[in-house]
Amino acid sequence: MQEGTDGGRDPDRSSDIDQLSRAVPTAPTLLEGLDGAAASRAVKVDLPPAVDGGESAGRVTQAVDGFVNLGVPIGTDAYVAAELKQYLAGHDRRLRAIVEYSRCETAAASDGGAKKQRGIRLSVQLALHFLRFSANSRDVHLLRSKGRRVVQAAAEQHDRGVRAALAAILCQLELPKAGTCADVSDSQMTPEFVRAYPQMVLPTYQGGLGVRRWSAHADAAYVGQAALSWQSSMVPDAEGIEDTLFPALRTIIQAAGFLRVVPVGTPRPAGALRGAYDLAQAWAACVAATRLAYPRAAGQRQSMPGHATAWLFETHGAVENLILMPARAQKRLSRAVVRLELTDFVASLDRDGSLAGLEFKQNYMREAEAHTGDQFTAFPWMPDGQLHMGRSDVLINLCLRFMLVPQQDVVPRVKLRALTTCARCKHQIPTAEAVPSLLQRLQHQLVCPKNANCWKVTHNALEQVVLVFVEECGMMDVGLEPRWWDPDGTKEDGHCRPDIVCRHPETGVWWVIDVTVAWKAIWRSAVGTASAAAALATDKRAKYDEALRRVRVRPGQRTVKFWPLALECNGAWGADMEELFDECVRMRPRRRGAELYHWSAMEFGKHWRQRIGVAVGRGRAMCASAAARTGSSTSSAGAAESSPYLV
Ligand SMILES: [Zn+2]
Repeated sequence: MQEGTDGGRDPDRSSDIDQLSRAVPTAPTLLEGLDGAAASRAVKVDLPPAVDGGESAGRVTQAVDGFVNLGVPIGTDAYVAAELKQYLAGHDRRLRAIVEYSRCETAAASDGGAKKQRGIRLSVQLALHFLRFSANSRDVHLLRSKGRRVVQAAAEQHDRGVRAALAAILCQLELPKAGTCADVSDSQMTPEFVRAYPQMVLPTYQGGLGVRRWSAHADAAYVGQAALSWQSSMVPDAEGIEDTLFPALRTIIQAAGFLRVVPVGTPRPAGALRGAYDLAQAWAACVAATRLAYPRAAGQRQSMPGHATAWLFETHGAVENLILMPARAQKRLSRAVVRLELTDFVASLDRDGSLAGLEFKQNYMREAEAHTGDQFTAFPWMPDGQLHMGRSDVLINLCLRFMLVPQQDVVPRVKLRALTTCARCKHQIPTAEAVPSLLQRLQHQLVCPKNANCWKVTHNALEQVVLVFVEECGMMDVGLEPRWWDPDGTKEDGHCRPDIVCRHPETGVWWVIDVTVAWKAIWRSAVGTASAAAALATDKRAKYDEALRRVRVRPGQRTVKFWPLALECNGAWGADMEELFDECVRMRPRRRGAELYHWSAMEFGKHWRQRIGVAVGRGRAMCASAAARTGSSTSSAGAAESSPYLV
C-alpha cells in the first residue's frame, strides 16, 4: 500500500520528508534496485532528531524514485512505469522459454530420443502448468498492489503474451523470433485457437483450461488486497480497543469514500489522493460487476448467506465499510468477473448461427460437464506415472476439447476417394458439410468399431483405478471380475461378471460395480446431465436385473447394491459415479496429505478425481490416434509416445 503511505501522509510528516530531501548531504548516486530492477536514485540522509536540537536518530538510504518490494515496484508513477517495462521484458523471456520447453520433441529426436523420453512425454503437461501457475499468476501480485490507473496497460500486455504462448504450446502458432509474444496478432494464430481462447480462460470445471485473464481481475485483486491489509492491521491496545497499524490506509479508505460516486473511468479529480482514487475506482468497478453478474440477487433486500453478492450487503456497498468485507475478499469479488466472462462467452455462442458455430456450441456444452477438466489439473508428480499425460495425449485431448486444428500425424491419412468414409470400417464419417473436417475424422476414431481394442484397454485401466480407489477408501473383500458372483447364470439368461465386487465396512452391504465408457458424448439439453453416461447406466441396470435377482436370494447377499459407473470419453461422470465417489470419500477422514497426494494442499478426493480423469484422457487420446499409428511408416515413435503406460 505504498500509494496509501505516500498519498496519505499528514502535512507535518510531509514537511519532514521534504526537509530530508533538501538536506541531501551528497550528490545522488544511482543504486541498482532489488530484483535487478530499474535504477532508482538513492541518497544517504540523516533522520531528524527525536528532540529539537538533539542528535540525528540515524542515517538511512532513501530511494528517491522508488524501489521494488517483493516483486512489486513502489514509487513515483514514472518509476513504476519504467519498472513495468522491465517486468514485461522478463515476462517475455519466461514465456519463450516455456514454449521452447513444450517443443523439446525436436531436441530429443536428434540424439535418438532415448534419454529424454520422460521429458518429451511430459513437456506439454508441464508447460501448461508452468504457464498457468508460474507465468500467468505472477501478474496477480502487481494487480493487488497497484491500481488499474498505473497497471492496466501492462496487465493487458501480460495477458496477450500468455495467450500467444498458449497458442504456441498447443501448436496453433509458430512463435515469431522477432518482437514480443504480446505483439503476435490474431492472424498469425489458427482461427480455431482465436475462437476457442475465450473458452480457455474459463475455469476447468466450466469447460475451460483455467488460463485466467488477469487484467479482468485487476479491481477484485486491488480491493481484495486493501481489505486484507486493513483487516489484518487491526490490533487491540492495552484497553482492548482496536486500532490500525496503518494510519495512512485509514486516510486512503476515508478519502475513497468521498470519491465513491466518481464513475468508473473518469479521470482523477484534481487534488484527490492517488491511492484513494485508485481504491474508489476499483471499488466502484467491483460493485458494478457484481450487480451486473447477479442482477436479481443484488436487487433483493437481503443477501443469501455465502452468495457472491453477500459482500455488497455486508458493506452496504460503501468502501468506507471495507473492514466489514467477508474473508477471502478477492476470491469473492472475482466470482462476478468469472460469471460475466462465462455469460459473454455463452452469448457469443448463441449469436453464431453458422454451421461451424453450431458445432462449436454443441462441443462446448459437452465439455462444460463437470469433471471433463480434471485431467488438465493433474501434475505428473507420482514416480509410478499414474498422473502422467504424454505430449500427444494432452494435445489430442485439448484439440477435441477446444476444437483446434489437429496435428496431421494423429489424423488417419486417406486416399482422395475415401474422403467421406473411414478407411478402416468403411462407414460414412458424420458431417453436415460435403467433406468431413480433420477434426471430424479424429472424432470418428473414438466410435470407429475397428478401435474396439482401445475401448477395452481404456475400460481395463479405469477398472484398475476404481479398484485401487475403493480399496484405499476401506472397502472390504474387494474382488476383481469374480467368477463366483453369478454361477447360476446361463448363456440364455445372460451371465453377468461384474468388474468389481466389495463389501461396505460400515453397513456390510455388498457393492457390485461395473465400469463403462460412452465413446460418444451426447448433448441433450442442459449442462449437468451427462446424457450418454445416463443412457449407458440404464442399459447396464437392465442387463444386470436378472442376475441381481438370482444373487439376492443367496445368504448374506440380500442387500446387494449395483453401481453402473458410466463415464463419457471426455471425462464427464454419470450420476452413479458421482454418488459412489462421494460415498467413498466420505468414509476417508478429511485430511490433506502433502507427501501422499501432492506438493501442496492436495486432498484425497481431488487426487482421485485426477487419477480417473487421466485414465479417461489417455484412453481417448489412444483411441483417437490409433488409426494414424497403424497405417503410418513414421509412427513407431508416436505409438510408444501415445501409450507409454499401457505396454
Ligand atoms: Zn471407422
